[in-house]
Amino acid sequence: MMKPRAWESQDWKNLNEANQKALDNFREYLRIPSVHPNIDYEPCVKFLKKLANDVGLEFSVYRNVPKNPVVVLTWIGTEPSLPSILLNSHMDVVPVFEENWNYKPFNADVDENGNVYARGSQDAKSFGTQYAEAIRRLKKEGFKPKRTVHVSYLPDEETGGIEGMQKFIKSDEFKKLNIGFALDEGSASINNTLLVYYGEKRSWKFAVHCSGQAGHGSLLLDDTAGEKIEYILRNMYKFRATQREKNSNDVVTVNLTMLMGGVQANVIPPKMSLVFDTRSPVADFKHFEALVLKWCEEAGKGVEIETYVKDDEAENTKIDQSNPYWIALKTAVENLGLNMDTAILSANTDARFLRVLGIPTFGFSPSRNTPKRSHNDNEYLNINVFLDGITIYKDIIAGIANV
Ligand SMILES: [Zn+2]
Repeated sequence: MMKPRAWESQDWKNLNEANQKALDNFREYLRIPSVHPNIDYEPCVKFLKKLANDVGLEFSVYRNVPKNPVVVLTWIGTEPSLPSILLNSHMDVVPVFEENWNYKPFNADVDENGNVYARGSQDAKSFGTQYAEAIRRLKKEGFKPKRTVHVSYLPDEETGGIEGMQKFIKSDEFKKLNIGFALDEGSASINNTLLVYYGEKRSWKFAVHCSGQAGHGSLLLDDTAGEKIEYILRNMYKFRATQREKNSNDVVTVNLTMLMGGVQANVIPPKMSLVFDTRSPVADFKHFEALVLKWCEEAGKGVEIETYVKDDEAENTKIDQSNPYWIALKTAVENLGLNMDTAILSANTDARFLRVLGIPTFGFSPSRNTPKRSHNDNEYLNINVFLDGITIYKDIIAGIANV
């Protein structure tokens, strides 16, 4: 059943009170320079406390990791013993090269088209503001969620979540939240079709250290580090070519990112190393890992793998009838008259930590017709896209909180 929807605000210069308030809050949040490295999160904590008070949500801040507070705003459901809903986003943003920006990256200036320019406008302060503003409207309409809804604001997502979500999920405080389903950040859609991510590629970043016979650069020695390096590199890049041929997102990506070794031009070194960044769809990881181990074995003795990062194994979140949260999300989006595609995310977000725990999690962004500018210069979000996002979240939250 389609219910065509009149999108609310077209004239961003003349907003109604609720929309103006949402925009003001968004811009206030964007003006906090919570930018890596060495972030002071306290201004964010203060801002979110004020927002919680204003919307009428419980406010908690967990400080288990020094300098990396986790903020949770809570809306208690009518059946609080049921597993709860988590709406997640992060407070930190990636660095800027200010000379490449047309606007100051922490001013949240608005151009003549109603675009708000700021680092974090897409990734991820829009989500954090929209969740709270959507709840404000649901409360105003008298909606009461069956399940408790928690809105979380994490630190350290942009440097891998090590000091943020990875530690938070191990805490008693997290366990007490009793989360049954989570929505996390997604990426803006360049066209009219929304995107929902139900899984992420499994990242494995590792060095291959090759040792061999050292000696004078004029000799044709056997068992040299160079031959082993060549063997591994050849096989990795042959494999990479097969993945490129598939011309799809759902493939293993392989890239040589560092190359180390050698002492001087006429000395065959005893050791040289390669570093790779690889990302595999969950279903392909084991096969790929076995291939790498085989090549290292075949390359000869003295070849060792040193793993820098290997994501824990996580199942993709189900996108079928067996997942009632998927049905609720899909129904809400369809009833808004919008299209939605499903995909696997190539990058990493905090969602992967939740999926490792078996919590069904979707990465979602309500932003349509928006150039992807997260981590890029002149990151912006249009005011109408931002406000439409609140409307979209409102219906989605109402749906998933009543599963
Ligand atoms: Zn992000």
